[in-house]
Order: sequence, then structure tokens, then C-alpha cells
Amino acid sequence: MKPELYEKYSRQILFAEIGEDGQEKILRASAVLIGCGALGTAVAGLLVRSGLGRLRIIDRDFVELSNLQRQTLFDEADARDALPKAVAAERHLRAVNSGVEVEGIVADLTPQNALKLLSGFPLILDGTDNFQTRLLLNDAAVSLGVPWIYAAVVGSYGVTMTVRPNETACLACLLESGEPRGASSLGNELTCDTAGVLGAAAGVIASIESTEAIKILSGRLDALHGRLVSCDVWTGKFQSIRTERNPSCRACARREFRFLSGDAQPHITLCGRDSVQIHERDRQLNLGDLGHRLARAAGAQVKGNDFLLRFCVSPYELTVFADGRAIVKGTKDPAVARSLYARYIGT
Ligand SMILES: [Zn+2]
Repeated sequence: MKPELYEKYSRQILFAEIGEDGQEKILRASAVLIGCGALGTAVAGLLVRSGLGRLRIIDRDFVELSNLQRQTLFDEADARDALPKAVAAERHLRAVNSGVEVEGIVADLTPQNALKLLSGFPLILDGTDNFQTRLLLNDAAVSLGVPWIYAAVVGSYGVTMTVRPNETACLACLLESGEPRGASSLGNELTCDTAGVLGAAAGVIASIESTEAIKILSGRLDALHGRLVSCDVWTGKFQSIRTERNPSCRACARREFRFLSGDAQPHITLCGRDSVQIHERDRQLNLGDLGHRLARAAGAQVKGNDFLLRFCVSPYELTVFADGRAIVKGTKDPAVARSLYARYIGT
């Protein structure tokens, strides 16, 4: 290893479980992270500092003021400029470690693009905020035969588990065994937008997730904890339980990937409190043209940057991304969101 690299990562190399050999492997390794919120920013920060070769970050959202309390890669300027999280994260991470190839992609992970966006990476990391996307990730990872690390936080509580297809339980083994519960019931879980979330809970879970990632990337599969680990930073309770594969699991045994085939994916989703996301089929929008048109048609003040446009149609606020997606704030009603989308952006 070059002396300057040895110096840069010396404290990690001195840790005997990794050593110079492990660091060499980390430097050549890559991973893809889906979701760059509280968990995602913390995981990305830890991994980029640890020196992995390449990190792809996929996120569908933009930075808002209410993110800064826990999303450690972003600052006030990012929120003021409403930068997409993938773009802001890439910029900050490049400044942290120019030796890592960081690639931010502004996109919503869907059954249509999942395999394309996730293929070619030996590790998939969960930074998402909903079970719909996690089950899609699980389907994609199991079908590709690639390990992924499940992680979730809400309130002061968090949970994480490393999934190795055909070796360990998968997320479907965990969530879909016993009482049958459809994808729709998962949408009713508590979320950070309704129950709040502590940055510290995300920090603990992200730290465990990153450590598992480092073990995989440095070739130390023997050191994986192999458990479902959970903790509550408020009560101080930690738990770690063994999980078993479900021999008739829909995903890892029967290989029925209904989240990946799109059978379980709605085209419109609630995202956050009082917001609806519309993800039409992939369509590239010319944001410049659309901005001019909107300024004339809606008479609205249209703000934006290279990646998105935002305008108000009282009492709603629409944010439109270059890939054709829109987030409509101010309603929970998909029909209202759809009609606003059709009226101002087109069909
Ligand atoms: Zn399974």
C-alpha cells in the first residue's frame, strides 16, 4: 500500500481485525446505498471515511430545513437551495474524501429501475424510510444473490439485520411469516414523519450497519453478527435475537419476487406527512421549458435549480424532478395530487 494511503487509514489498519489486508480490500470495494436521510447520511459518511473505492447513492428527495437535526451530511445552504439529497451528499462526501468515487443519483427506486441501479455492486445498503422500498430491495438483492443490510429507525428506536441470500433469513422471512400481512398493512407502520426521530437513534443503527458493511467489504464474513439487533437510545435497552430462515419463504425459498415484478408497487405513494409522491413512468422533463410555461400558466413564482422546480398553487406546493416525478405537499389525497400533476405538468 502507498505510504500516504497507509497514513490516511492507519487507525483502521491498526485495528487487527481489519489490518492492511482488510484495508486493501476496502479500497477496492464498492457499495450502493438507497436512501440518504438520517441513516443514509451517517452510513455514507462512515463508509466514505473508511475509504471504500466506490459508493453509489440513490435518493428521490431534496433537502429541507427539518432534515438538518439528524441528516449529518447536509447544511443550511443545501436546504435553502432545495438541493436533491443525492447531489448534496455527493458534493459533501467528495470534500470529505476525494479518493472515493461517489456517485449521487436522483431517482426513486422502482421495480422498473431496481436491477439496473443495483446491479454490479457486491453490497446493498438500506437507508430508506419505508417497507415498500425495503421489500423491493430484499427482492432485488435475493434475486441477484447479493448481501444487503436492512436498517430502520423511528422515534428513539432502531433495528438492523444483515441479509445474505441463501445463508441467513431475509426480510420476507421476518415480515411475511406467521400472520399473513399484505404490503398495504406495512404502509401503516409508524414513520419518522408521524412519530419523530432522534438523530442519535439513527447514529447508533448506522454505526452497526456500517460495521457490518466494513466486515463484508474487507472479506470478514466470519465476523458478521448474524442477528436482528435493535436498540432504544432513550430507554437504553438493547436486544439481539437469532433469526431463522422460513423454509417456505416467498422470496428466498420460492423466489417469487412480487415487489420486483411490480405486482405490489403502487404508482402513487404517501411520502411524509401530508405529501403525495407521483412517480409516472420514466419521462425526462425539460425543466427550463416547464419553468417558463408554469410561470405563465400558473402565474406562480417558480423556483428551482438544475435538478428540480418548485411552485405553489395555494394551498399546495409542487416539487417536480427532472425524471418526471413530483411531490405534492398539502394533501394526502392521491386524486388531488394526480389532478394537479395533470393540470400543471401534463400527462
Ligand atoms: Zn426469506
